[in-house]
Amino acid sequence: MTGRPEPARDTVTAMAERLVIENATVATVDVADTEFPTGHVVVEGNWIVAVGAGAAPSYTDDVAVRRIDGSGHLVTPGLVNTHHHFYQWVTRGLAQDATLFDWLVALYPTWSRIDEDVVYAAARGSISSLLLSGCTAAADHHYVFPRGAGDLLGAEIRAARELGLRFHPTRGSMDRGVSDGGLPPDFAVESIEAILDATAQAVDTHHDPAPDSMLRLGVAPCSPFSVSTDLLREAAGLARSKNVRLHTHGAETLDEEQYCHEVFDKGSTDYLAGVGWLGDDVWIAHCVHLSDADIARFASTGTGIAHCPSSNARLGTGIARLQELLAAGVPVGLGVDGTASNENGSLGAELRAALLFARARKGPSALGVRQALRVGTMGGARVIGRAAEIGSLEVGKLADIAMWYVDGVEHSSIEDKVAALVLGSLPPLALLLVNGQPVVEDGQLTTADVGEVARDARIQAQRLVD
Ligand SMILES: [Zn+2]
Repeated sequence: MTGRPEPARDTVTAMAERLVIENATVATVDVADTEFPTGHVVVEGNWIVAVGAGAAPSYTDDVAVRRIDGSGHLVTPGLVNTHHHFYQWVTRGLAQDATLFDWLVALYPTWSRIDEDVVYAAARGSISSLLLSGCTAAADHHYVFPRGAGDLLGAEIRAARELGLRFHPTRGSMDRGVSDGGLPPDFAVESIEAILDATAQAVDTHHDPAPDSMLRLGVAPCSPFSVSTDLLREAAGLARSKNVRLHTHGAETLDEEQYCHEVFDKGSTDYLAGVGWLGDDVWIAHCVHLSDADIARFASTGTGIAHCPSSNARLGTGIARLQELLAAGVPVGLGVDGTASNENGSLGAELRAALLFARARKGPSALGVRQALRVGTMGGARVIGRAAEIGSLEVGKLADIAMWYVDGVEHSSIEDKVAALVLGSLPPLALLLVNGQPVVEDGQLTTADVGEVARDARIQAQRLVD
């Protein structure tokens, strides 16, 4: 690797220089799964302008060029994270052996004390972990808004902008407290009016619909057991009037399915369908407990799923039916989920987890290494509504690119480099481009001091328990 240019964090449009990666194994994840054992990728500004076998085209113009020798490396699209709760970075390692409902009840009181400083520090921790594991675009679901806590959404947006992540925050919410038959304590919920006002304002303030957008908002009431039916209906109307996407949790646990049957007299998929929450502008986290009929409805409506295998295992909720979902054509992406239920926080690790859990459940043909990579890249792009712009290495797509070192002791003896990435330990990340800008080089963040990120996270975590 050569010298590191100063990152231009504040420029919306990246510098119009040319970056050439050569001599690398390239897995494009295009529709034909095209791979080049020795190939190139060329980036100009924030767009990919060439991908192919052998050496890069020779250019005779006088555009400044940075050349990167990709020998011993695998180049893939950046990974796309479809579900997270950044603020949980500072509440990890708690309620270690609890079920989802017990875990939530244990953590709500701590979460109700978060403020802007906590969320900013936690978001920096979560985003650092994502970037360092090859993730270039991420959704976040923030649904805890204690009164007087400040601009929490603004805090995580600031962190994402500073660290250089392509960011899809969703304005979450809870309005069904214990006294209304919900799970969260009453002090943790907001009124419908306050939620809809704040959500509309967040979209108006932050959402950028441009093709190369670094920031798109979504609307995200938390879950069937923490929000009212009215809020789900009205949130769907609001999102559609603003032309933004909808996100929530669904079918995560058997407890939740039982809750839906007791309170709504139907399963969570039927319930969501009845309030306008199935559609190709919706994606739902987990969906572990789906029937064949549920899967068919997800497929026919184009409703996306954020598959979070490590979090589901950590909370013992089950294993989503990934093989059946993919066979039915349901859009599926990967998610780390909040790091209070997946202390790892690495999206790269979810490639392997998705494959292993799918096979543990249905045998060795349940998911191949290339299918796992596809779910983690194009699948995620489709789920968050960016399939035309990110998720594969193709001319005309945005330059969100990961370059993994696969010639070290952990991987050099594996001939198939995609297998090395998915089945082996997560390889060192030599380079991560987001929107054409290098945010990781030689395994180090270029946009933040990770020692400082770690210190701040520790201080804010301590503040919450004091
Ligand atoms: Zn979640």
